Amino acid sequence: MIDLGILKGSSFVVLGLARSGLATGRALKAAGIDYICWDDNAGSRDAALEAGLNVADPMGIDWSRITALIISPGIPSTFPKPHPVAAAARAAGKKVICDVELLARAREKARFVAITGTNGKSTTTALIGHILMEAGVRCEVGGNIGRGALDLAPLGEGGLYVLELSSYQLELLETFRAHVAVWLNITPDHIDRHGDLLGYVAAKENIFARQQVRDCAVIGVDDEPSRAVYGKLAKRGLPTVPVKLETPVAGGISYRAGMLVDADGYTVDFADVPTLPGDHNAQNAACAWAACRWLGVPREKIVAGLKTYPGLPHRQERVASVGNVVYVNDSKATNADATARALSSYHDIYWILGGQAKEGGVAPLAPWFERIRHAFLIGEATELFAGQLEGKIAYSRCGDLKSALDAAHAHARAQREAKTPAVVLLSPACASWDQWKSYEHRGDAFRAMARALPGAQVLGRAA
Ligand code: ADP
Repeated sequence: MIDLGILKGSSFVVLGLARSGLATGRALKAAGIDYICWDDNAGSRDAALEAGLNVADPMGIDWSRITALIISPGIPSTFPKPHPVAAAARAAGKKVICDVELLARAREKARFVAITGTNGKSTTTALIGHILMEAGVRCEVGGNIGRGALDLAPLGEGGLYVLELSSYQLELLETFRAHVAVWLNITPDHIDRHGDLLGYVAAKENIFARQQVRDCAVIGVDDEPSRAVYGKLAKRGLPTVPVKLETPVAGGISYRAGMLVDADGYTVDFADVPTLPGDHNAQNAACAWAACRWLGVPREKIVAGLKTYPGLPHRQERVASVGNVVYVNDSKATNADATARALSSYHDIYWILGGQAKEGGVAPLAPWFERIRHAFLIGEATELFAGQLEGKIAYSRCGDLKSALDAAHAHARAQREAKTPAVVLLSPACASWDQWKSYEHRGDAFRAMARALPGAQVLGRAA
């Protein structure tokens, strides 16, 4: 836990008592700092009471003695409508901040690597943390992934924190300075919380605010909004490393599946890294490469780290194999865009999809249909998807995940002895809530079922 002792004399209101809010309450309590905490959900308040926290309703309090409101990033503080407690704090002229800001205030001498982007944040954060640890660089990894910012271990002076930061967290920072800021990409997302695309980009740009000339900005420049941000950074004179698909870019890194080319032409072939398939993961790896190089990690150590990266659960996670058929859990792919990444990473795919459909269904995935050997439909989306696949690829209506996996396993039989590998891929392009509690629940079930298939060899971590 981070020691917040330096903030003694302050007084805070904590709003939202999920993972990061509870950690904030615990850290404030441990440091003997004055605070109250609250959540609109009675169950969450009970959990806080059980943890011995000071739970009290902040509506109607005297804000004059409060230093700031620490709000959970999941709670709207501006759009579509500020939570009444956030509105009250602002009306009293108080700052609205998040736990990451407290970490920055409490560890003034620490160094921070911050990672943001619409997609690939968790992968890149975990990858940077893995490379650093394998290279013997002590660091703590958390934020929007794993442990909340204040649950991380205190590191000594100059200690390194690797933090995944969402747009919601970034807009709640005041003094936080990223020594290395990594920006992966932008596609429209979370517009309800930021008003419009410009608002979303502006919130994310806060990752570069307060950077100084000896800091570094790593930025993927394959989409228009990111290129505009890159242009602004270049004008500021910050050391900036652009990362670009395919074509070399001055002073930057180019990438395509399995291959990175550094600014000086040094080439890294990581085609044999099965945990990082596809161009999208090459973008993540290239950004991780740039960040670690800036931190002074020798090239061979970065290559070694890339090659031993274990991957994250539910993101193209290789869970088992039977002969030459690999079973891949991509349950995190809850929309067509995410599923497109997985389909573009393999050939000879036995594809399990369905659940609660998103707008447009799987129609945008047509460019990858030629890679599909057979599709297995599950859940509420079955009839919608059957209509969209009709006449284009062979499919079966399977009802539930177990039946779909068994059917896919049977269909893939001939591939087991084949020379070229095939995949049975759960990449649903759908939310899970019609049949599961969450995408994690769905992916955990797939992993267990795939590993229980006759002749299955377990791949990846035990989770
Ligand atoms: P995030 O933390 O930003 O949600 P993750 O690393 O958890 O991202 O990856 C989630 C999904 O996003 C992956 O399963 C993949 O479909 C897609 N993805 C990952 N990296 C990228 C990238 N660089 N560009 C586009 N899509 C990506």
